[in-house]
Amino acid sequence: MNQTSPWDLLIRRAHLATLAAKSGLGELVDGAIALREGRIAWLGADRDLPAGANVGAELDAERRWVLPGFIDCHTHLVYGGNRSLEHEMRLEGASYAEIAQAGGGIRSTVAATRIAGEEELLAASAPRLRALMSEGVTTVEIKSGYGLDLETERRMLRTARRLGAENPVRVVTTYLGAHAVPPEYAGRPDDYLDFVCGTVLPALRAEGLADAVDAFCETIGFTPQQVGRVLAAARALGLPVKLHAEQLSDQGGAALAASAGALSADHLEHLGEAGARAMAAAGTVAVLLPGAFYCLRETLRPPVELLRSCGVPMAVATDHNPGTSPLSSILLAMHLACTLFGLEISEALAATTREAARALGLAAEVGTLAVGKRADLVLWEIERPAELCYHLGLVPTHHRIFDGALSDVPRP
Ligand SMILES: [Zn+2]
Repeated sequence: MNQTSPWDLLIRRAHLATLAAKSGLGELVDGAIALREGRIAWLGADRDLPAGANVGAELDAERRWVLPGFIDCHTHLVYGGNRSLEHEMRLEGASYAEIAQAGGGIRSTVAATRIAGEEELLAASAPRLRALMSEGVTTVEIKSGYGLDLETERRMLRTARRLGAENPVRVVTTYLGAHAVPPEYAGRPDDYLDFVCGTVLPALRAEGLADAVDAFCETIGFTPQQVGRVLAAARALGLPVKLHAEQLSDQGGAALAASAGALSADHLEHLGEAGARAMAAAGTVAVLLPGAFYCLRETLRPPVELLRSCGVPMAVATDHNPGTSPLSSILLAMHLACTLFGLEISEALAATTREAARALGLAAEVGTLAVGKRADLVLWEIERPAELCYHLGLVPTHHRIFDGALSDVPRP
């Protein structure tokens, strides 16, 4: 025991679910966890606490459960306007593709985002972020992709960075230029991708605004060949990549992502066996997004059995976006992953902690309770961890600790 460097906080009488083992929850009943300088310094059974431990503050968890902070690894949280009108249209029978072809969909959000200033975007996005934080989220990925020009993409990513700087939450940014073809490039998708790869990507990279690069591989998005260009340009700049793949059809996007060494391929309702095998071989995480599946009333579920049998790690995220998943609840995302996709409780909890960290390339830093990792953790007012995938609308967050510091549970 290093007596010159005390623990900043010791949490005692806690039930821990470390999520650190390959399977199961890593449950440790009557445990304790010590934090120092924003990291986990010690954890184990309460009775095994080292004698003479030098403790700053102590918190009695009163037998509450402690889990790693949740990680929402796929969101489009920053945008202008909203698309409740399309919700109405969809209720009247219009499909996602029909709405897109009618000039709605992504393009209507692009128009609203282009005219929104940074302060406006920040004010619109903060309540969405606070809703996630109130449910124990400590890391959020935020994509651009509603500007499609350099100035607006930069403003979206700057807004995402500010959300991270101004709130006790870790924000990871992703440039999603290849989300849609903007109106000024209508009918010229390859010219637009020249601009994305040759101008926007290098600029955002130089400004340190993008931690990763994503693209939308779909009949109403970009072809595998076009997406391949974007991923290659990102890799050439040293940026990790990910891909929206196999959401509405099987384009071979998952295999393409895997061949580019992607961190994740996301959606995957139409994933086939070749794609799953390629993902397993490359260590590419399958990010399942039940919010979009639910809102679009899809019926073909992602092949969870295939992913399991191939050994592809599974993450779950909200996919918060104004069109197809206006979902600001990680607890509901987990509930839907269980009820709609058939995930088991231990899979769903790993999917928003350990595997979500892997999907962001942050597995060494966050996602489990383990010595040396960032001290992002949440105390829950529950009797069993399964309750986190069970309640609908009840949010049993008790205490939230970000980077070793206790923070209030925000109210949206
Ligand atoms: Zn998405």
